[in-house]
Amino acid sequence: MDALTGNGIVLDRTVPFERRIARLIEHCGSAADEPVLVDGVAFFLLYCWFQRHTTDAAALRGLIDASLAGIGGELGWIGMLHQRGYCACGQTNRLENMTICVECASYECWECYGCHRARTGHEVVG
Ligand SMILES: [Zn+2]
Ligand SMILES: [Zn+2]
Repeated sequence: MDALTGNGIVLDRTVPFERRIARLIEHCGSAADEPVLVDGVAFFLLYCWFQRHTTDAAALRGLIDASLAGIGGELGWIGMLHQRGYCACGQTNRLENMTICVECASYECWECYGCHRARTGHEVVG
């Protein structure tokens, strides 16, 4: 189980996000010796989501902690927040000022995220 697998699960748009979380939790339970990790956009998405759902996602804590360590800990996270994301409307901003849709894995600027949520019913985090 490598980072690619974790990312693959998190970014698999063919299944609802809730199912992806359930899958991740299954993998956490079944692969104790080879932890599932996520990085890049999958980490950003999952970490933002996790900060809102700490209770129901307690089973994911190990994966989140290991993945955070994998991207360089808090410094890696701050570095990620300083990277730029692009909204479909053409706006670009640092990730600390962007949101992301958990279903689409699309960055949404502050002007668009409400619209995206209203149009699709998707959860937008960030
Ligand atoms: Zn969406
Ligand atoms: Zn936008």
